[in-house]
Amino acid sequence: MRENKTLVTSARGSVDLPYAALALEAAEEGAKAIDEHAAEFLQSVTSKGARYDLVTRADKEAERAIIRHLSNRSPSDGILAEETGSREGTSGLRWVIDPIDGTTNFVHGRRDFAVSVGLESRDGIFAGAVVRPAHGDWAAAEGDRVFSSAGHQMSVSSVRVNEALVAVGLCHDATARAFTLRQIVPALVAQVQDWRWVGSAACDLFSVADGSLDGYVGINLSIWDIAAGIALVKAAGGQCETVRAGQIDAFLAGSPEVVAGLKHALINL
Ligand SMILES: [Mg+2]
Repeated sequence: MRENKTLVTSARGSVDLPYAALALEAAEEGAKAIDEHAAEFLQSVTSKGARYDLVTRADKEAERAIIRHLSNRSPSDGILAEETGSREGTSGLRWVIDPIDGTTNFVHGRRDFAVSVGLESRDGIFAGAVVRPAHGDWAAAEGDRVFSSAGHQMSVSSVRVNEALVAVGLCHDATARAFTLRQIVPALVAQVQDWRWVGSAACDLFSVADGSLDGYVGINLSIWDIAAGIALVKAAGGQCETVRAGQIDAFLAGSPEVVAGLKHALINL
């Protein structure tokens, strides 16, 4: 097991919208829980099924910290969390939590993992925050406003699809993984400038929102992988859409032009 050092973000900048601020506070509570016990947590890696579907005590403790904070601050809201399931609320709002998105990266000492806290109403996801502890940065969004630790407005890129750098995310199902490698990736590579494999949907969507990636394709994702990221991408002027590609669901994110190009590349597989 490799040593993993995390940095907790501190400054919350000028997040002056209530749900974005609460999402960020909760995600930072998760990041603190990871940071306080990272070395100890790395002794507790177990698999949830497939050998690459990992969970650590860090995931569980971070999730506990996030839920505790949200339950104190907004007790009537529902909760959907990756490791512990769901709880009904009465407010019509539901927090969607991934305590560590990119656990395999975390376990291997790689920096691309994130705490992801999104918020949905009956109309869909409308707020959220992603904290990347090992990068020491964060972004939070509500409606059409997005805030970041970098202190400037985030915006999706404006390149054409053949100039786009696109990240692809694999799911845990072996059949879908094989289909992704044999069909999805070649179809994309033929259309975009180049592609990357980061291993965290939340980190990828953060990067789409700040324009350092132009697009993202995620396969058979769970809502907690992408809830906060959807809020960031939409607030940064981007678009998110799920399309059927062969026998799998492909979640697409990027500028409207890049999403249209990705959809065109995948829809006839
Ligand atoms: Mg997770």
